[in-house]
Amino acid sequence: MFIADGHCDTLYEIGICHTAPEKCVVTRERLKAGGVGIQTFALFAGIHGTQGTPYQDGLDMIAAIPKTGVEMLNGDLPENPPETPKGIISCEGGEMFEGSMNRFYEFMEKVRLRMVALTWNFENEIGYPAVGGENKGLKPFGFELVRAMDAAGVRADVSHLNERGFWDLMEKAELPPIASHSDCRWLCDVPRNLTKEQVRAIIDRKGFIGINFFAKFLRADGVATMDDVVRHIDAICEMGGEHVLGFGSDFDGISVWPEGLGNPADFPNVLEALRRRGYPEQTLRDIAGLNMWRVLKEGEKK
Ligand SMILES: [Zn+2]
Repeated sequence: MFIADGHCDTLYEIGICHTAPEKCVVTRERLKAGGVGIQTFALFAGIHGTQGTPYQDGLDMIAAIPKTGVEMLNGDLPENPPETPKGIISCEGGEMFEGSMNRFYEFMEKVRLRMVALTWNFENEIGYPAVGGENKGLKPFGFELVRAMDAAGVRADVSHLNERGFWDLMEKAELPPIASHSDCRWLCDVPRNLTKEQVRAIIDRKGFIGINFFAKFLRADGVATMDDVVRHIDAICEMGGEHVLGFGSDFDGISVWPEGLGNPADFPNVLEALRRRGYPEQTLRDIAGLNMWRVLKEGEKK
């Protein structure tokens, strides 16, 4: 079964923290063992926001790509989902562009960015983060960037974005937005998770939601099990979201995870849990990877 994952922070580990590739949670061997055909590798803008050096860090992470040992798909995607592990590139934290459209195009020339998380956990030139609670919308550069992303078939990723920014995006963006690694806020009340209204909007627009495996986003007490992952998936499916759901593991970016879901080799365990829960095989295939594949392909038709 084709499996796709919407988010990991492995390039930050290798390129910025100088972690040895074989010490990372996401390795080619584990992707292969888990049957992952597409792993999204994020260029993460870093924990210092605009006070750091996100642009240079982005270049350093791009330079680290070969060390992953995973072939990146930089052109249009093949006709069918790959059977061996391949990577695609996203950006997590638009401060990497330092408020410059030229920087955005520069990155686009170096790598095929498939999605851009407009913010991480800090205010930047684009807008405001979910963490922090500001009730302000996208900034002028944010609107300009979203227009350029639409034209280039690059998805706006709303994981980490605040609610006002989310609704601005829903109004202005042509391409349905994605939330690459967020869970349900009504099941676990943290600002990084999506409200019911946001999930409804993403379903209505046929976007994408990648379930985050971070135990603290799955359960308020941070002691999550596989049942909690299933609970979040159930909740979105109950709203009619089985065609927008997938995974956004956040591996190499999270510190606690449910037992049996600690690295990419464990993906089949989630599918087995859903199978036991009675999910039909076609829905399993959709959630495992085909929903994300659809969203990526639709971006290319632009
Ligand atoms: Zn994140």
